[in-house]
Amino acid sequence: MQPTTEPRDAILVEKTPLETYVPPAKPSLIGLSRTELADRLGDIGVAPAQRKMRVQQLWHWLHFRGAQSFDDMTSISKGIRAELAEHFTVDRPEVVAEQISNDGTRKWLLRLPSGDNVEKAHEVECVYIPETDRGTLCVSSQVGCTLNCSFCHTGTQRLVRNLTAGEIVGQIMVARDRLNDWADREDGTRRVTNVVMMGMGEPLYNFDAVRDALLIVGDNEGIGISRRRITLSTSGVVPNIVRAGEEIGVMLAISLHAVRDELRNELVPLNRKYPIKELLQACRDYPGASNARRITFEYVMLKGVNDSLDDAKLLVKLLKGIHAKINLIPFNPWPGTAYECSDWDQIEKFSEYIFNAGYSSPVRTPRGRDILAACGQLKSETEKLSARERQALRAMAMTD
Ligand code: SAH
Ligand code: SF4
Repeated sequence: MQPTTEPRDAILVEKTPLETYVPPAKPSLIGLSRTELADRLGDIGVAPAQRKMRVQQLWHWLHFRGAQSFDDMTSISKGIRAELAEHFTVDRPEVVAEQISNDGTRKWLLRLPSGDNVEKAHEVECVYIPETDRGTLCVSSQVGCTLNCSFCHTGTQRLVRNLTAGEIVGQIMVARDRLNDWADREDGTRRVTNVVMMGMGEPLYNFDAVRDALLIVGDNEGIGISRRRITLSTSGVVPNIVRAGEEIGVMLAISLHAVRDELRNELVPLNRKYPIKELLQACRDYPGASNARRITFEYVMLKGVNDSLDDAKLLVKLLKGIHAKINLIPFNPWPGTAYECSDWDQIEKFSEYIFNAGYSSPVRTPRGRDILAACGQLKSETEKLSARERQALRAMAMTD
């Protein structure tokens, strides 16, 4: 897959004011399971004997072809298409801003109806990271986050609401629309090949919607991203980890970040509820983990906080007996944070120690820092940054 060749650092969609938001007049079919689609077809009078076939057609148009209107669904009879259009839409979340980083990363700001007051809107971010051999979409599960990890920008935004399954699937559909990435791409290649639930929010605190959405994303008659290419990242909601393995079956990533409870309590306050020992036990019990399907342990590199060789030693010790790989994430700064990213030679030493102990330990290349699109930088008020703040951010991204 080719990296993007668009102009660098471009803002392709200028943000429209929140006040201009017009709530959707009809419900969207995006995010419904086959059973729910059959029920909706029943609601508009499709006979029970026909529903299965019609669901199959709808599924194909919605998730495989990415149809953006019922008119495009030419294999479905005109009468049914008209009935569908009268009651439903195939709308995805509205794209209100699109930014492209100077490294090709794209960030979309999406607008959604607020749950309790339909006249109001919420906003959420979604990021596409092109690489030479893949394209990863980083998807949000909540508007904001109830947890407040001290190094995470999203954590400074209080939870506004959980996303619905449709709004989660909708993020992948928006990316495919914007990247011209549906099944009929002429060269047969795909741009979105991987999905990571690493955007805003804690996916395991929105379990049902995340499960329903990921089952649609992984369905091989539709969006068709294999479960091995979908990763769910959690800060450690222990009771839902094994459940995720059983009911969703995707790859698991754990935001570990510290090897002692005292420090982890500070960095990831959820640790007070589910300490390291319980978290690692849930990982040992995770169904389907094996040498070929390792659990990723994410470890953010914070200068002078968690990056000593003693930390690396204890990390290796803790992970003994778990099918694990370690992903070192250089800390991504955001306005107002007190943390700094570890020095590169320290990151290298840390990584080398882990590697010599037999673990794969790639250092994640920061992507999209200049547009606040990197891990932990997402926050839907970012568009409110002034021109001067944006400039400062770019300078920060360049010096790191
Ligand atoms: N809530 C989930 C998923 C979203 S965060 C979780 O915490 O796992 C995705 C990853 O980015 C997590 O590993 C998170 O700890 C990490 N992260 C958060 N803030 C960061 C920052 N400023 N720099 C680098 N990584 C960060
Ligand atoms: Fe929430 Fe994850 Fe950020 Fe922690 S790191 S505040 S769990 S989004």
